[in-house]
Amino acid sequence: MAAKPITIVGGGLAGLTLGIGLRRCGVPATVWEAGHYPRHRVCGEFISGRGQETLSRLGLRELFERAGAVNAGTAAFFSATQSTQPRSLPARAICLSRFTMDHALATEFRRLGGELLEDQRRRETDFGEGIVRATGRRAQTEEKRLRWFGLKAHARNVSLAADLEMHVSPRGYVGLCRVDGGAVNVCGLFRRQTGEDHTPQNSREWLRGQPGSPLNQRLAAAEFDESSFCAVAGISLQPQSAAARAECCVGDAITMIPPVTGNGMSMAFESAGIAVEPLATWSRGEISWDEARRQIACDCDNAFARRLAWAKWLQRMMLTPALQNILVRFVSRSEWFWRMAFERTR
Ligand SMILES: Cc1cc2nc3c(=O)[nH]c(=O)nc-3n(C[C@H](O)[C@H](O)[C@H](O)COP(=O)(O)OP(=O)(O)OC[C@H]3O[C@@H](n4cnc5c(N)ncnc54)[C@H](O)[C@@H]3O)c2cc1C
Repeated sequence: MAAKPITIVGGGLAGLTLGIGLRRCGVPATVWEAGHYPRHRVCGEFISGRGQETLSRLGLRELFERAGAVNAGTAAFFSATQSTQPRSLPARAICLSRFTMDHALATEFRRLGGELLEDQRRRETDFGEGIVRATGRRAQTEEKRLRWFGLKAHARNVSLAADLEMHVSPRGYVGLCRVDGGAVNVCGLFRRQTGEDHTPQNSREWLRGQPGSPLNQRLAAAEFDESSFCAVAGISLQPQSAAARAECCVGDAITMIPPVTGNGMSMAFESAGIAVEPLATWSRGEISWDEARRQIACDCDNAFARRLAWAKWLQRMMLTPALQNILVRFVSRSEWFWRMAFERTR
């Protein structure tokens, strides 16, 4: 029997990684992508956690290294009044711009014989048998008093105290890390009250931080690459389970972990890795679509539930103004606390 083809809707990290994994098993795969490559995406561009094992298994870590990924071994934390010395990351991480990363994955998928349809948005109702949802985060639908939005831009002329700098403030947090090509990625997740102004014109001010803050000083001489500015709004950080979905999902389409953990990309790679074998088995006609879907959902929930719970807790602490200084002081003084928070969210 000829292998049944699989359609993946969404050509971000989860969709393309899944497509590559399926092509490596000889499964015919088509990816629909609403946008095109290369393009900038709102992302901290800091890859840490177990997803790196999936990357190595699929030969993608080497691909990223060839594309200029920068190794990261230290992190430092800053609040308005406290800072830590650079702390060693308990496990190494890599930093690569989404501009380069998504393009490299798309090229690799095509090289392996995958069909990639760019600038093609699939209808939302069109998710039957043989179709995987990899469409990324679900927009926040409820009207809430506090709304999350993300901003990012690349900058030059910025020197960092550690490979990853995290700056927290009552508005949210901004991460800085060096990426391919010598640029520093400046990426923030912010919350605003309904009605509070956030327009593309003042993105730069949000990213630069409050005057006098360590972030503002760090970016004092920054020269931003105008073409790299991007924004996303309506971000929902409520953890969801894969088993609750009627569709077969991978990546943020299952759930989005708070970006402060630097683990969303890892979960995208891991969920894609988890999905390859059940989908290949379905493609050979050995199990039903529903069996494949349920197995993927169960394995993803088992892999992610604990870190989602810890991430929710950590994010809440980081964004409570009264706790921010205490948290930074704790990270600075307690190796145990730093390792525990890092490991439990990965
Ligand atoms: C502010 C912020 C900072 C972050 N920082 C980090 C970090 O430092 N480290 C980390 O690991 N993670 C980080 N993340 C999370 C990370 O970006 C995501 O977890 C990751 O991109 C998820 O990959 P994905 O493939 O599931 O979704 P995406 O990368 O969003 O890809 C989904 C794709 O689907 C396409 N699409 C959507 N609907 C359709 C449709 N109907 N038809 C066709 N195509 C469609 C979209 O165009 C998009 O390309 C951050 C997120 C935010 C918001």
